[in-house]
Amino acid sequence: MKRDELIKLFEQVGAIRTGHFELSSGRHSATYIQCALVLAHPPLAEQLGHALAELFKDHSTGCVVSPALGAVIIGHEVARALGVRALFVERDRSGQMSLRRGFELVPDERVLVIEDVWTTGGSTRETIGVVEESGGLVVAAGALIDRSGDRLDLNVRAHALLEMDVPSYEPDECPLCRAGGAPTRPGSRFSRTAL
Ligand code: ZN
Repeated sequence: MKRDELIKLFEQVGAIRTGHFELSSGRHSATYIQCALVLAHPPLAEQLGHALAELFKDHSTGCVVSPALGAVIIGHEVARALGVRALFVERDRSGQMSLRRGFELVPDERVLVIEDVWTTGGSTRETIGVVEESGGLVVAAGALIDRSGDRLDLNVRAHALLEMDVPSYEPDECPLCRAGGAPTRPGSRFSRTAL
């Protein structure tokens, strides 16, 4: 899928919005991204999963592992396109990510880690750690959107379907506030995981 087509698709369902937003971090931005709003449409989730899987078809992946909750659907769709298992890691009561529900990896199983949005890549790094502790071999990592601004450091091959440069500002430095606008707070109505 071409970049223009992807952005249009996300914008049509409100998953990428342009305006003046206060993010859950307190910073202001002209762009809001919420992948759950595009993944809520199963045909679109399938289409995006297929497009993302295309980037990794040469990696002979044994299974896909994603961090819950935001990346479960896209991980599942990438796994469907590759014809492999879709597992996920989730936080236990102590806040540690782990494989639960009887999910197991075959020793040295080749794993593709799939995320919805990379902001810092923290969840992906944690997921890679869990996979390695569980005996898997992480061959690559993928995401629908990379908004890290080239600051990502995952120590594995990493590709995103869409790279977006999304500036954000401290409120007292926000050019949109200076222009007299007031921000809306999508984070109060939507999941904060993608902010
Ligand atoms: Zn502002």
